Amino acid sequence: KESRAMMFQQQHMDPDGPSTNSNYCNQMMRRRLMTEGRCKPVNTFIHEPLVDVQAICLQGNTICKNGKPNCHKSSSSMKITDCRVKSSSKYPDCDYQTSHKERHIIVACEGNPYVPVHFDASV
Ligand code: 5GP
Repeated sequence: KESRAMMFQQQHMDPDGPSTNSNYCNQMMRRRLMTEGRCKPVNTFIHEPLVDVQAICLQGNTICKNGKPNCHKSSSSMKITDCRVKSSSKYPDCDYQTSHKERHIIVACEGNPYVPVHFDASV
């Protein structure tokens, strides 16, 4: 079974992206296996080097949406793409709205090494 850290990378890391393409989320949500069994409703991809995203675990500590204390907010804004399933989307034809943004992001970190395992929010 894949570690939660590997799963975070699979679901959220795209350092070389994005292609300037309104189909970005449709392609990437499928390629990264988030359209298996259901269309994952909301997912964010991060277009920054992995080391810079891992470094967020050493940045401002904050409470996660689930009440746990192990969330961290990036001190810099980051290039991200917000993928959100359209209300007209019908599984298995998952259809997403693609929005490129620059935001501070909040991730949950765990383990030793202490690395990102969950994307909580962008602010
Ligand atoms: P909504 O905007 O639909 O009320 O809620 C979506 C929430 O999901 C937002 O607060 C947003 O910050 C959060 N979100 C964005 N991307 C992701 C993601 O990749 N994973 C998770 N679990 N939440 C996300």
